[in-house]
Amino acid sequence: MATGTLSEPGTKYGPCKGECKHLACAETKRMAYALCDLCGLSIGYGVRFYTNRGRPGELVHARCLEEVARQTGVGVRA
Ligand SMILES: [Zn+2]
Ligand SMILES: [Zn+2]
Repeated sequence: MATGTLSEPGTKYGPCKGECKHLACAETKRMAYALCDLCGLSIGYGVRFYTNRGRPGELVHARCLEEVARQTGVGVRA
């Protein structure tokens, strides 16, 4: 399981603020707008998240997964 954070648009490592044709920007924006599998809210920027919980493209907020882990007693190593 990979963990990551999306940089805010317009920052050094973030995507372009406006419309552009960069594949990397499109991918970052797609992930930012993707919905967390646990809380149903978009992943957003500057928030830690986990990817690939067995299914490609599946994203969850780190805090959501850690909350579930805390409640169920299943350990999560970040
Ligand atoms: Zn761009
Ligand atoms: Zn969430």
